[in-house]
Amino acid sequence: MHRLSVFRRAHQRPTHKDPIAQNIHDHYQQLINIHHRLTIIWTPSHVGIPGNELADKAAKSASKDLTETSNITTQKDLQALLTSKIQERWQQEWDRNSSKLHDIHPSVKPLKFTISDRRTTVIMRRLRIGHTRYTHGYLMASSAPPLCEHCNTVLTVKHILMDCSFHSANRELHGLQGNLSADLTKPDFSVNIVNFLDSLSIAHCI
Ligand SMILES: [Zn+2]
Repeated sequence: MHRLSVFRRAHQRPTHKDPIAQNIHDHYQQLINIHHRLTIIWTPSHVGIPGNELADKAAKSASKDLTETSNITTQKDLQALLTSKIQERWQQEWDRNSSKLHDIHPSVKPLKFTISDRRTTVIMRRLRIGHTRYTHGYLMASSAPPLCEHCNTVLTVKHILMDCSFHSANRELHGLQGNLSADLTKPDFSVNIVNFLDSLSIAHCI
């Protein structure tokens, strides 16, 4: 924000949340109280002064971050910038990840869900991670991975919710789109997923 506008806000709204505006107002008021006369003028910084303009240009081109930080006026601005930078870095790290969960939820932004009961919460979490007792219990039992009884391929969450053609009609009946990311991240859709698994009599094995 421009310094003059900060000052105007400070002058007009003495209890403003902006700490800089509040600080300017306090100093302004102190000077007025001791009978100082203040004249507020706007000086367009650097404009029309060739040396200053060149310095400004060089400073901006030296660092992209510097341009971003030059917009910081308040603590709130700094928090917003840091949050955005952390999220950007986190997203880059997450995009290097090739886990099943990344396929289902490629963004680091939180999912918005309304899940009322613990059973549904547990089922949905396991499905999103891609590891369930039904499909990965063999790891604990040190046995061979289970195969789909209908098409004889290795049983996975993706196979059950998306690939197995034997369940196509049942998926449609419960409104599943056959798209893991869409079906497992859609708000308030967990009931449909659990009902689908119940219809296959496997929800209790997840
Ligand atoms: Zn199958």
